[in-house]
Amino acid sequence: MKDQLINYIVTNYNESVDVIENADMKEYTSFRIGGPCDIALFPHDRESFCAVLRYLNKHSLKHIVIGNGSNVLFADEGYRGIVVFTTKMKNFSFNGDILECDAGVQLTAVSVRAVKDGYEGYAFACGIPGSIGGAVYMNAGAYEGQIADVLLYSDYYDPATGEISRLSAEEHRFGYRYSSYMDTDRIVVSAGFRLEKAKDPSSVVALMEDHIRARKEKQPLEYPSAGSVFKRYPGHFTAALIDEAGLKGFRVGGAQVSEKHAGFIVNRGCATAKDVLELIQIIKDKIYEIKGIHIECEVRYIV
Ligand SMILES: Cc1cc2nc3c(=O)[nH]c(=O)nc-3n(C[C@H](O)[C@H](O)[C@H](O)COP(=O)(O)OP(=O)(O)OC[C@H]3O[C@@H](n4cnc5c(N)ncnc54)[C@H](O)[C@@H]3O)c2cc1C
Repeated sequence: MKDQLINYIVTNYNESVDVIENADMKEYTSFRIGGPCDIALFPHDRESFCAVLRYLNKHSLKHIVIGNGSNVLFADEGYRGIVVFTTKMKNFSFNGDILECDAGVQLTAVSVRAVKDGYEGYAFACGIPGSIGGAVYMNAGAYEGQIADVLLYSDYYDPATGEISRLSAEEHRFGYRYSSYMDTDRIVVSAGFRLEKAKDPSSVVALMEDHIRARKEKQPLEYPSAGSVFKRYPGHFTAALIDEAGLKGFRVGGAQVSEKHAGFIVNRGCATAKDVLELIQIIKDKIYEIKGIHIECEVRYIV
């Protein structure tokens, strides 16, 4: 199967899909954890991305689509299948009052480019280390803003038909760190966003600088992590709950509850996925014991 897939790509998409065999997921995820996958594919554009997905579906090859890998934890044993990364799909264009982005475009790049061109609404995205696809998938957000506020539509690849279709903003049924993509196996190919001229562009730049400053001050950016590991529990800040439980700094192997921001688990150099999973369970159990609530993981474990 490996040889046939590689042969298909070399024959048809040699220039537009990069192939890496046994790619180490440590190198492609912000946690810097995880073993090798069988094959990593990096399509450069929408056409080769969809062709690759069609091939994988047609031949029933196990696969997963990943953006920047900033909200995932790969198993120590790696992934027996194909990982399709969108990070080389970087096209975006301004069409009238719509900004169209490929799934692999970086949120921070969108934020910076939008303000440069005199638009507002994207300051919240500055500093979130994800791709458009990953951000739409989970309705990423920060500082009172979220993808749901600016998205007009997304175009998705439908494995059931092999076709590209469009999902309106309402059809995403966005909620807190939720979109309807989480309930299907559809894949975000690109997305369209609303553009509004900024009344005062310099205030948008100042807001973005504030966000970056706050992140540096409050988040343990000096260590690999996947950001906040848990979703906010209604009425509570999870980081405060973990702090109250006395778990700040608590460590399992190389995985540690950050001393700077208790919502983050950081990799202190040699953490394994097993360490992180064990630490997550300890945190969940402790919070249930003292507060009687079940907190949920935001980070996706991939095995
Ligand atoms: C230091 C740090 C700070 C962070 N701060 C924030 C924050 O402020 N707010 C916030 O919301 N998040 C934050 N995050 C988490 C993360 O950056 C976001 O969740 C981001 O949206 C994930 O995008 P990604 O491209 O990295 O997704 P990945 O980690 O690559 O994937 C996440 C999930 O999305 C799916 N996916 C990815 N691309 C597609 C696609 N094209 N189609 C369908 N499914 C897809 C994957 O299969 C996976 O299930 C932070 C992470 C870090 C490390």
